Amino acid sequence: MRNIYDLTLEEYEEYFLNIGEKSFRASQLYEGLYKKRIDIDEITNISKELRTKLKEDFSDYKIKLLIKQKGEGVNKYLFELEDGNKIESVLMFHDYGTSICVSSQVGCNMSCAFCESGRLKKVRNLYAYEIVQQILQIEEDIKDRITHVVVMGIGEPFDNYDNVMRFVKIINSSKGIDIGSRHITISTCGIIPGIKKFMNEEGQVNLAISLHAPNDELRSKLMPINNAYHLDELMEVVKEYVSKTNRRITFEYIMLEDINDSEKQALELVKLLKGINCYVNLIPYNETENIGFKRTKKWKILAFYDILKSNNINATIRKEFGSNVSAACGQLRANN
Ligand code: SF4
Repeated sequence: MRNIYDLTLEEYEEYFLNIGEKSFRASQLYEGLYKKRIDIDEITNISKELRTKLKEDFSDYKIKLLIKQKGEGVNKYLFELEDGNKIESVLMFHDYGTSICVSSQVGCNMSCAFCESGRLKKVRNLYAYEIVQQILQIEEDIKDRITHVVVMGIGEPFDNYDNVMRFVKIINSSKGIDIGSRHITISTCGIIPGIKKFMNEEGQVNLAISLHAPNDELRSKLMPINNAYHLDELMEVVKEYVSKTNRRITFEYIMLEDINDSEKQALELVKLLKGINCYVNLIPYNETENIGFKRTKKWKILAFYDILKSNNINATIRKEFGSNVSAACGQLRANN
């Protein structure tokens, strides 16, 4: 049985028409679920008979919050799914609002060398409702609205393309959670067919690429996906994406001590990205006891940043989050 939080507004309009109801019932249902945040039984502008029918046709199961850890500027959440699997979400408090990093799969098959999540192979894709509910539950916890969403938690979003795009439609709907598409970012490790499909989607959802290395040799060591899609092919499709969508693309670059953080590598990165409408997000690595990589020292991150900036590559250094919580993606799940 499908979950009540799993359908787009258009899918509900079709559902209601199919059962002989008016399509505006879809907006009433969405208003109850996402604006008022009430259960089906409490949506009283829908008749009792119709509510009974909805309860027959859909499950209203909610994922269960198991653990919440609070750190400086960051909350980390562990949820249990209906089948007992566990996933994580991270909420970050910024000057400009709050951003949530949601998971899109249980485990991940991409096996990035620095990633705790990748140590658990993919068990299954998340349904859209399981991603939507990470937002609903955390908003309920903080009693506030989340302003930005990044699909960059456990899992590779383009390995679960349809459910992730359905999730985006649900949270972007003005009748629903209403998070603007420019405030939503999907982060991929570089699945080229996914990027090609994504560039033809409507809307202004942002794309980020986890790059983490400026050349094939290092990238293949850090990210096995690079063996399937080399940097030259990736950069080709990135250029196509930017020219087709007219949108700036983000490159995520986790700073790993003595691995990808030298001056020479910064210059290589400049060469790779020259002329692309992009910005680079330098991310201080969250160390974990199961993986040997270390976080690059702050001065070295700044030196790397300066090289990018002085060569006209837009760059930011992500605020450091969560050294006092299990902040590495997948760490909370692994420890529990
Ligand atoms: S970094 Fe992302 S894509 Fe790579 S293993 Fe971890 S969750 Fe998967």
